Amino acid sequence: SGQSRPMRILQFVQSAAAPGDANSAICAVDSYCANVEWAMNVGDKKGQILDAVVLAVRPRWVLELGTYCGYSTMRIARLLPPGARLVTLEMNQHYAQVAKQILGHAGLDTQVDLLVGASSALIPQLKKKFEMETFDLIFIDHWKASYLPDARLLEECGLLAPGTVLLADNVTCPGAPDYLQYVRNSPRYRSEYFPCQLEYLQVEDGMEKSVFLG
Ligand code: SAM
Ligand code: MG
Repeated sequence: SGQSRPMRILQFVQSAAAPGDANSAICAVDSYCANVEWAMNVGDKKGQILDAVVLAVRPRWVLELGTYCGYSTMRIARLLPPGARLVTLEMNQHYAQVAKQILGHAGLDTQVDLLVGASSALIPQLKKKFEMETFDLIFIDHWKASYLPDARLLEECGLLAPGTVLLADNVTCPGAPDYLQYVRNSPRYRSEYFPCQLEYLQVEDGMEKSVFLG
C-alpha cells in the first residue's frame, strides 16, 4: 500500500477525516502535505481565495481543469448552492481513481462529475454530454502550457457567457505568461491579479481572475 503520493494522501484522509465531512477531509490533505509530503494541491491560503470567488459567483455550472487528488474539487463542491454541478477533468487515470475515492469519503461525489481524459479532447464534448450551455465559473489548474489553448477552446466551443469567471492558479509559479498576456490585453476580459504564496511553501505565486465580457 502507499505506492504513490496520491495513494498515501488517500490513506491519510481515510484514517484522519470523518466520513462525509468535507472540511475534515480538506484539513487532512493540508496537514499531510504541509508536514509529510508536498503535493500540487491549491492549498489552504490560495484555497481561501478560491472559496471567496465561488461564494461570490454562486455558480450553477463549474468546470475545473486538473483534478489531481480532488483537493480543490472538494473546496469548490462544498460551497456550491443546491442543484449546482461541478465538472472536473483529469487526464491521469490513477489520479482520477484516487480523487473519486477522496470525494466519496468526503461525501461530495453526488455534485461532481469527474471525467478522465485530456482537456483538449473533453472540452468540445461538454455541451452535449451535460446538456448545458455555459459555465459560470472555471478553475484552471492543469499544465500551465495548456491554460491559453484551453481558454481559446472554451471560447470557440461557446462555453463562456458574459460574466463567466475564469480563475487561474499558479500564474506566477510555475507561471503561465502567454495566458496572462492574453487575458490582460484582450478586450474580451477584465482581469485582476491576486498575489499569494505557493501551496505549503513561502514562495511567491498568484492567481488571475478574469471575467469574460463577451
Ligand atoms: N486542482 C488540483 C488541486 O488544487 O487540488 C491540482 C491539480 S494539479 C496542479 C494538475 C493536474 O492536471 C494533474 O493531476 C495533471 O494530471 C492534470 N492535467 C494536466 N494537463 C491536463 C489536461 N490537458 N487535461 C486534463 N488533465 C490535465
Ligand atoms: Mg495549482
